[in-house]
Amino acid sequence: MPLDEASAKGSILFGGNVFLRNLANNMDRRKFLGSMGLAAAGAAALPVLGACSEASSAGIPGKDIKESYNADLLVVGGGPAGVCAAVAAARMGQKVLLVDSGNCLGGMGTKGLVGPFMTCYDATGERQIIRGLFNEIVERLIAGGGAIHPSKIRHTTEFTAWITEGHDHVTPFDPEILKKVYDRLCAEAGVKVLFHANFVTPIMKGRKIQGAVLLTPSGLEAARARMVIDATGDGTVAFRAGAPCVFGDPDSGRVQPASLFFRINNVDTDRLIADVVPHLPEFRRVNGVSYRCLHWRVAEAEAAGEWDLARKSVNIWRSVEKDQWVINCTRIHGVDATDAENLTAAEIEGRRQVEELMNFFHKYVPGCEKATLMGTGATMGIRESRHVHGDFVLPVDDLVNGVIPEDNILLSANSIDVHGAMGGPAGGLYMPIQKDMYGVPYRCLIPRDVEGLLLAGRCISADSAAAGAIRVMPPAMALGQAAGTAAALCLQLGASPASLDYADLRKSLLSQDVFLG
Ligand SMILES: Cc1cc2nc3c(=O)[nH]c(=O)nc-3n(C[C@H](O)[C@H](O)[C@H](O)COP(=O)(O)OP(=O)(O)OC[C@H]3O[C@@H](n4cnc5c(N)ncnc54)[C@H](O)[C@@H]3O)c2cc1C
Repeated sequence: MPLDEASAKGSILFGGNVFLRNLANNMDRRKFLGSMGLAAAGAAALPVLGACSEASSAGIPGKDIKESYNADLLVVGGGPAGVCAAVAAARMGQKVLLVDSGNCLGGMGTKGLVGPFMTCYDATGERQIIRGLFNEIVERLIAGGGAIHPSKIRHTTEFTAWITEGHDHVTPFDPEILKKVYDRLCAEAGVKVLFHANFVTPIMKGRKIQGAVLLTPSGLEAARARMVIDATGDGTVAFRAGAPCVFGDPDSGRVQPASLFFRINNVDTDRLIADVVPHLPEFRRVNGVSYRCLHWRVAEAEAAGEWDLARKSVNIWRSVEKDQWVINCTRIHGVDATDAENLTAAEIEGRRQVEELMNFFHKYVPGCEKATLMGTGATMGIRESRHVHGDFVLPVDDLVNGVIPEDNILLSANSIDVHGAMGGPAGGLYMPIQKDMYGVPYRCLIPRDVEGLLLAGRCISADSAAAGAIRVMPPAMALGQAAGTAAALCLQLGASPASLDYADLRKSLLSQDVFLG
């Protein structure tokens, strides 16, 4: 069987009839995935699951699958986008099932240890423009001692790894407290949460999605729903349902590098700050390579042959507790988050790099001699994988030029930050926006070729560079809130996502303290 055919089928057929394998040349797979129109066409032509009502099973021949759940809305993926989608819809009276493969809500922000929340302010740094559920989560975190309000955090400080551009008013938070905040938010809204539940494949009737088959500790179980939201980050539901997708940036054949986050404590923060501040005037970016925090210490380690990471400086962010720091510094290129073997190799390499970094901190960084590794992310940090396509694909130019469309459902000012975009070991693409903010249209949440499905978070319909701006957590939450609200309105009004009047959606979002200009 030719590679493309095998890959296309392997990604849609249930039961792993064809397993995708790590390809020696990852580029081949990216090229293939880049022409995902082919995969989507293949997927649509292949047998999809029949309706549950046809039998006691979910429709998989020879498999007896219990129909365990029946909801108005199924949200797949409990990251920042999925949580906000589920809560928004449940607050509007919908019966919501939120499933996640892990053991907690929060996705990259909890399991992945990623933080802080990037900016929720406009580019002038004067006005908070991402509010709604994001703001509620921040307020709850602060009440629990788990965050510092973004109004108090300015750029070029220890809370921003001393980065200036695009890093004003970030929100440091504690991931353990965030887990509890999400649990309570969902419980209070009446969201039914199911952990250890892996999405396997959609239940389809023609082009309409009607739920999903899940792999749980009980085995295969079906969850029926009138509508579904894909908040998996990787766009797995949309892809398996037959929506067109691209992988990374099809033009360059690249995907942003992955990073395994980790946290350290027992740091003498005053001594660390005293080492960094005198070097601030030397911070620079040369050909996309950043020489920022601790670049002088990296140079020492490099000279001693004790540094082989694809970076010239260390992104190290102070957290809520004074002696705790979040490290975003490992870098693994060419990771395909849709391929288990590739991802496994990346996880192992990530831990190797963490070990090297801990040695670096102990040996070269003042104040970190006795630093303790609190933990590494329970999952590799994936910046980019699939982008699901709708009729409208958000172009990066619209963000740079500050376009605010009529069906705008999110205002944001996060900069375009595409790690690894220029190739080489560390070259990134960084584009500041030309206006105070830009808008994201509702159209980006609607995938092509599948009915009853909305997108939320990292996988929305945007080009690779645009996704490099809106993938961060505050916009992801806002996109989730918009998707959940849209789903609830569709269910209430008997509308489809495409026929929903965006004026109704915007009105509802405004009533939820969402800022739309
Ligand atoms: C290295 C790195 C650094 C970053 N730095 C920052 C930062 O400093 N600040 C910031 O604000 N943002 C940052 N981000 C971006 C941000 O963390 C993510 O883009 C954001 O969390 C996306 O939200 P999401 O809800 O779309 O997806 P995710 O957070 O990835 O959540 C997706 C959820 O879906 C679940 N899921 C996936 N597939 C399945 C399945 N088949 N079945 C069941 N569940 C499934 C996963 O378990 C996960 O919980 C960073 C990201 C990375 C990777």
